[in-house]
Amino acid sequence: MDTASHGFWSALIWRADLWWLAVLFGVLPDIIAQTPKVVYNVWKNKSVKGLLSEDLPSWIKTYTYYAFHLTHSLVIATLITGITWMFFGVQLWMLAWHLHIGIDMWTHKKEQATPFLYPFSDFRFSGIHWSSKGFIGMNLLLLASAWIMLV
Ligand SMILES: [Zn+2]
Repeated sequence: MDTASHGFWSALIWRADLWWLAVLFGVLPDIIAQTPKVVYNVWKNKSVKGLLSEDLPSWIKTYTYYAFHLTHSLVIATLITGITWMFFGVQLWMLAWHLHIGIDMWTHKKEQATPFLYPFSDFRFSGIHWSSKGFIGMNLLLLASAWIMLV
């Protein structure tokens, strides 16, 4: 799913005092994994269409690969959340990270599919792509309906 929608869904679900932390944890997996790639492509004056091209220096490809796998793994998210909860108590807004991965598992395809079991398995679902017109329309309709009904 697109990063902005992750933020809106997180804000909608965690409408408590610390909703902004849920938004942060809802968007950080994509921000952490994609920012160097996007900044490099903007710096190189690539067109908007080419912003996510794979024509990148090897260090950015390596960083993006590992950052994507680490930030999109339910294993890693659960481990870090569990350790944090042991020291600081239950922080439900951290589950926005799990929500992000759970949505991405079904809204990415092929090589961009979500490696949710990393590092134990490379099994992935190949779902409907979030950028397909049907999905974008359905997502916006559901988001708008949910915000109107719940907020
Ligand atoms: Zn993502």
